Amino acid sequence: MSVTADIQRLRTELGKLASFSESPAPAVTRVVFGDMDLRARDYLKTLFAEASLLVREDPVGNTFARWLGRSQSLPPVATGSHCDAIPNAGRFDGTVGVIGGLEAIRALQRSGFEPKRSIDLVLFTSEEPTRFGIGCLGSRLLAGALDASAGDTLTCVEGRTLNELRLSAGFSGRLGDVQLSPGAYEAFVELHIEQGPLLDLGRLDIGVVTAIAAPASFRIIVDGEGGHAGAVLMPDRHDAFLAAAEIALAIEAAARATGSPDTVATTGMCEVFPGAINSVPSRARLDVDVRDVDLGRRDAVLAAITAACDGVEGRRGVTVRLEPINADPPAWCAEPIVNTIAAASEARGLRHRTMISRAYHDSLFMSRIAATGMIFIPCREGISHRPDEYASPEAIGRGTEVLADTLAALASS
Ligand SMILES: [Zn+2]
Repeated sequence: MSVTADIQRLRTELGKLASFSESPAPAVTRVVFGDMDLRARDYLKTLFAEASLLVREDPVGNTFARWLGRSQSLPPVATGSHCDAIPNAGRFDGTVGVIGGLEAIRALQRSGFEPKRSIDLVLFTSEEPTRFGIGCLGSRLLAGALDASAGDTLTCVEGRTLNELRLSAGFSGRLGDVQLSPGAYEAFVELHIEQGPLLDLGRLDIGVVTAIAAPASFRIIVDGEGGHAGAVLMPDRHDAFLAAAEIALAIEAAARATGSPDTVATTGMCEVFPGAINSVPSRARLDVDVRDVDLGRRDAVLAAITAACDGVEGRRGVTVRLEPINADPPAWCAEPIVNTIAAASEARGLRHRTMISRAYHDSLFMSRIAATGMIFIPCREGISHRPDEYASPEAIGRGTEVLADTLAALASS
């Protein structure tokens, strides 16, 4: 059985998909349930139908394209990713897993392979948090990690609810029906660009993902005492920004103190009020993201940050509030799938290594209901979420072929 990806076709279809964009090329912007998202979905559904896949959509717009296997009583295996794109992004994030997943199925079809288990290609709704402020919306609902009440509570900046927007996009039915039961899939494998530099730097073809880090994000609000920059004497100050600055440094120290390269903490936003050059800051707000693959270690960092906040509060006479935004647990990939991906890479003579995913993906949530693995391919300099994001057709082809071999092995057992 010779399974070969059609590289030219991958390139053409990724190019066509990139043309459905709210921003001019080479940038890609595709916000969930927007006109371009819906047109991209239509294009993909046409491709799914051309490959004789049976298409089903759920009430939040997750789309399942099925290649029927011989034993339809067995749980299928699945692959897939997302096609939404943050503002001013590139054309490969997510789409490589959708078009690559489709091409993996077509390559298997061309080779004459007949799957025992059905193979599903899943197009997840809104992996990016752009519209509703929460990432992995579709896969969260599939895994039961998000309650159906989110339909009314999640709103976009224009104040429209998830339910209003999905209905106007043509996705009806009860949101509660999106959830899949554990065991609904035998396995799930996602092909994705690395979004980091390790494969590109190491001139490697394939990253075999062993764990997916998950962010805990929270907001820190520091209230101090404002006043005239000339009139309030230094010993009398309770400067909210300086307290926040100390906290930001303590966050860095807490992440470094674990000694693990897998712990990262970022204070990516800082707002200072009232924000005038001649005014002592009365309030500061920090938005912080802490990630690790080890939940215990990540929670230890969070505890160290909380302790640092208490210390700063006492020393500087300010009040510090911590508001959690989100805290998903990290996930480990299933060992048999990790081994299958590594064996497929080895058999094709590809240079591969195991690695963790520092970005999070729909796989994080699929791992709650199915044995899950991820295949990474290199992207130039690790650049992602930018218009100059780039993965070569050859790299995508190699990832697609490893995915095809992996799906074939999983669908045969
Ligand atoms: Zn992605």
